[in-house]
Amino acid sequence: MRKLMAGNWKMYKGPAETLAFFDRFEAPDGVDVVVCPPFVSLEAAVGEEWPIYAQNVHWAEEGAFTGEISAAMLVEIGVRGALVGHSERRQYFGETDESVRARAEAALEAGLQVIACVGESAAEREGGLTEQVLERQVAVLPRHPDLVIAYEPVWAIGTGKTATPETAQEAHALIKSLHDTRVLYGGSVKPGNAAALLAQPSIDGALVGGASLDPDSFSELCRIA
Ligand code: PGA
Repeated sequence: MRKLMAGNWKMYKGPAETLAFFDRFEAPDGVDVVVCPPFVSLEAAVGEEWPIYAQNVHWAEEGAFTGEISAAMLVEIGVRGALVGHSERRQYFGETDESVRARAEAALEAGLQVIACVGESAAEREGGLTEQVLERQVAVLPRHPDLVIAYEPVWAIGTGKTATPETAQEAHALIKSLHDTRVLYGGSVKPGNAAALLAQPSIDGALVGGASLDPDSFSELCRIA
């Protein structure tokens, strides 16, 4: 199956830097590529060759939800999908399994693709709770052909600590036993560790943060995939 490489830019790159990125970025055929810029850079990015996803999406069509963006608004400007449930959203912005479920459902209903993020914290892993946490987070996610799951162990995000290919494979196999979908790995994926991770049978691609900001390194990751 084709691998899916998704770049999550987090709160980096306004419209000008977004256009500068796409001047240099190249990906081979044979790999699916998605880029997730911040909201204000989406319109600059949707003219490009690759599908553009938002980093979040609200569950209501419209309403009194200051600071939020609906799926219909994203569809209107040509955005093709959205991340939901990123651990930074869960950690800093109060996302819960229930809000993640609601956001995913609304996005799918509006015709967006969804990458739903799950993953255990360091304390949960040390406490032997990894399976339980993943089961709980995956259980609420809609069964839908346009939903992909990203396994992002929280202790590996932006820390330079990557799950070993074996550890990641084990978690991916568990997630696939719970939900029949593509599962991406995320957490400090770089050109130096991507090949070993992507060689695992249950790893269908990667959700890349830091290393997706540089067009050369994200191009390199897409070639590796
Ligand atoms: P990272 O981020 O690659 O910088 O660790 C991954 C993510 O949070 O999506």
